[in-house]
Amino acid sequence: MSVKIKALNLRGKNDFSKVVGDVLRSLKFEIVKTNADFDELEVFNEIIGKKVITRLKVAVGGVEYFFKKNSIARADERFGAEVNRLVKKNLYLLLVNNFALDDVPYGILHGVRPTKIIQRWLREGFGVTSHGVIDRDRISRRIRSDFLVELDKAELLTEVALRQLPIIRSGEKKISVYVGIPFCKTRCLYCSFPSNVLPEENVIAEFMTTLTRDIEAAADAINRYGFEVQTIYVGGGTPSALPENFFAEMLETVHKNFYGAGVEELTVECGRPDTISAEKISVMKNFGVTRVSVNPQTMHQRTLDLIGRQHTVEDVTRAFNDLRAAGDWKINTDLIVGLPGERFADFKETLEKILELKPDDVTIHSLAIKRGSKLQTRLADELNKLEDFDLPDDDEVRKMADYAAKILRGENFYPYYLYRQGYMSGQIENVGWCRKGSEGIYNVQIMGERQIILGTGVAASTKVPDHAAKKIRTAFNAKDLKTYMRDIDRYITRRDLVISG
Ligand code: SF4
Repeated sequence: MSVKIKALNLRGKNDFSKVVGDVLRSLKFEIVKTNADFDELEVFNEIIGKKVITRLKVAVGGVEYFFKKNSIARADERFGAEVNRLVKKNLYLLLVNNFALDDVPYGILHGVRPTKIIQRWLREGFGVTSHGVIDRDRISRRIRSDFLVELDKAELLTEVALRQLPIIRSGEKKISVYVGIPFCKTRCLYCSFPSNVLPEENVIAEFMTTLTRDIEAAADAINRYGFEVQTIYVGGGTPSALPENFFAEMLETVHKNFYGAGVEELTVECGRPDTISAEKISVMKNFGVTRVSVNPQTMHQRTLDLIGRQHTVEDVTRAFNDLRAAGDWKINTDLIVGLPGERFADFKETLEKILELKPDDVTIHSLAIKRGSKLQTRLADELNKLEDFDLPDDDEVRKMADYAAKILRGENFYPYYLYRQGYMSGQIENVGWCRKGSEGIYNVQIMGERQIILGTGVAASTKVPDHAAKKIRTAFNAKDLKTYMRDIDRYITRRDLVISG
């Protein structure tokens, strides 16, 4: 259900339009220009010292209603940054309490990496007793009270944040490297990644030349600064979509430039099982790959066809079996709850089939309708309506995710990384589950944002945390293949500048 409003007016010196928009979206408000249930919604925020006052005027059918709420920042909050939280909290409570709207699982917690908040609190001493013991209940209570998060989600966040601590504390000189290969065999309905359908051989060859240059420059920087590579992640796209010769060349270049004694993990995404061949498996073994991702998303053929994949359910089983027979690596797998046409029983069957394949790591994603995806474009162009995709509703999606959590825990998996995105079905989270000792180190480092990550390839991000200044310096390679190849020198220079500070 969505609540329609005709106009949204924001007032005040700083109108907080982004945070107001975040709250309205999470409560499924839709701003429209025609006849609607609510005629107008006006928000005014005032800041007095550590207090934020939010006033709300709602006009419905010619009658105006006024509401007001105050909140005060905590003593240990950096006030400048936390005003946004109080504006969100006031507005959320005003809307939910006065308009009988349903609470959402994560309340006003809208960021991509919510576990970082808990890890920061711990670094600053909150949630740690005078004997150095971590007080989980206190942390969970604060998450609930500050961000209006439901109890089970607050406990999940606390569990994941604490579990990541030993991995995140990896030391100053250890870094991770990302290699972005922007090709796939076809484009999935929901994909918002900068992935290209595999081009002609000459374009791939040109990309490989550029990538090699990019990787060599990154390796040069690693040597210059005395960094030690802890993890390497080859993602995309689907790196294994590369033809055999290019795949081998790419992994050889990665190995030659980044692989050293300190490497604890080398992951290659082979998301589509029909891109995995005996030859590629052998290449991965030769170049020290330790983790491989096979990401079917569903084990239902009709859904695979609908979302634009060309492989079969049997391909998934074959890929798992071939990989298992060939090496002692970890196999990651991704599933999605909320896919078109799927209901609880379908997801249950998918999970059962996947667990029979004995993956080491299962990430449960919630479908997100993101900008740049075919799904979003078709909805925006009004070629289709949401109903045409027969998506399960929020309650059904939550039921699927809750079921996955119960079954995975029963199989001795535990949640070890978590992130959120905009426009997620069920307004839940994406969670990575694994058995003890099978954590993907890169997955934790990328979420923790405490380690330097050097990005190479298309759409790669370089992130250099400056702990003293409490900020992260960033550089981004182009998302577009042509721009990346044309401007590679500029991206290398920018990355160097970000590393040097
Ligand atoms: S496999 Fe992944 S990267 Fe490729 S089109 Fe599908 S969602 Fe996008």
